[in-house]
Amino acid sequence: MSFTRIVKNGSVVTPEGVRNVDIGIDGDKITAIGPDLDDTAAEITDAEGHIVIPGVLDVHVHLELPFCGTTSADDYRSGTRAGARGGVTTLIDFAIPYAGDSLQQAADNWLAKARGKALIDYTFHICITRWDEHKDQIADMVKRGFTTFKEFMIYESEGWQSDDRAMFGTLEKMRDLGAMLLVHAESARVLDELIARHHTPELMKKWGARLHAITRPNFIEAEAIQRAVMWSEVTGGQLYIVHMSTAEGTEIVKAAQSRGVPVLAETCVQYLVLDDMVFDRPDGHLYACCPQLKKPADSERLWRGLKEDVVSVISTDTCTFTREQKAMWEGDWTKIPMGMPGLETLLPLTYTHGVLENRMTIEEMCRKLSTAPAQIMGLYPRKGAIQVGADADLAIIHPTSKIEVDPATMEGNADWSPFEGWHLAGFARTTISRGDVIVDDYKVVGKEGRGQWLPRDTAGLVPDRSRALHARGMLAT
Ligand SMILES: [Zn+2]
Repeated sequence: MSFTRIVKNGSVVTPEGVRNVDIGIDGDKITAIGPDLDDTAAEITDAEGHIVIPGVLDVHVHLELPFCGTTSADDYRSGTRAGARGGVTTLIDFAIPYAGDSLQQAADNWLAKARGKALIDYTFHICITRWDEHKDQIADMVKRGFTTFKEFMIYESEGWQSDDRAMFGTLEKMRDLGAMLLVHAESARVLDELIARHHTPELMKKWGARLHAITRPNFIEAEAIQRAVMWSEVTGGQLYIVHMSTAEGTEIVKAAQSRGVPVLAETCVQYLVLDDMVFDRPDGHLYACCPQLKKPADSERLWRGLKEDVVSVISTDTCTFTREQKAMWEGDWTKIPMGMPGLETLLPLTYTHGVLENRMTIEEMCRKLSTAPAQIMGLYPRKGAIQVGADADLAIIHPTSKIEVDPATMEGNADWSPFEGWHLAGFARTTISRGDVIVDDYKVVGKEGRGQWLPRDTAGLVPDRSRALHARGMLAT
């Protein structure tokens, strides 16, 4: 057997567990896994003393997104370099239609952002922002290779908000097309009311950025998750709750799953390792993201939810804003650009605070960061696991050696990090994407523009492929 590259001497996390095996790569695929693979012509990557894991999928990312009166500061060049250094080999962004745009145009706009810049592979969730216009465009997007859609229950002022009628109708279509709806679940009307009640000069002076947390109590998320779950239950459409941040949400999803509702949930790593005490800091406004950080008890419930498999995926909701952009708030929390950098630290945070602190095993971490996201987003078995036939997407990490998080040495465009000064293990010593070494000795060496768009034909954890293909007219009845 001939290989272009062999990864030798590492502890390899495979679907069968951790094994001391070599990985044989031919071109962009893994073609053999076994002891003592040999080929004198192959390049050798030595993983001695290291752990080899499947490349991470960050399935919730916003690059170069016009939002909150500015544009998020990481584009496909800096964002994918940051990802690579954090062992991320696939990202999924959100194609959001600009005013008047069709879903096809939204996809075209985001493909153009990525083209020539992306270092790693990518695709998009397609955002349905105007149901009446977009509803008849969904089937064609599925045919084009986009199987995941997104609706926002808030963001009326951005022109993105969906109502119950849109969610209900979209979930029916998801059921018929074998596709999946992602929902940003926050309860818009009560949230607006709480913001209005607190939006006074006196309260803003008194509480500052803490009003972000004060106006979003947990029931804002819980009520919206409950409502979205109801529409999934009665339609049978596959639902995926993005960036779930509360204990209450976790309980609702757990109960729904146990009665057979096709609902899945994701959390983001910041909800696991940070809490709303950050708003007491002088620079607390930097930490405003949406939904906002919650309490330690919520983090603990989410960690348990991961263990119970109620929560299937850990992502980042990366939406980078610099200190200068964050300064636009000028004391009014409703004007803070909401979001944080994250791609570069997803794996190090999950490894350090999950695996090294015994909240999850290394196999469980790989399931939450690679295998489950790939399966749920319709990218498995091409992505998501170290197995023969898969793309050769690998991250090689040291089991214990830690690096201090320092924005000055990071690849992203943020001049701050929510994790500045933290010591984290799990940065990628080596990242391999489709057989190419793109990070070597902790430095990005891959060529920008080499990343590929990934078409998909399924979504959801247990996709009923034949039903979906019948519905699309691709199989004879
Ligand atoms: Zn998001």
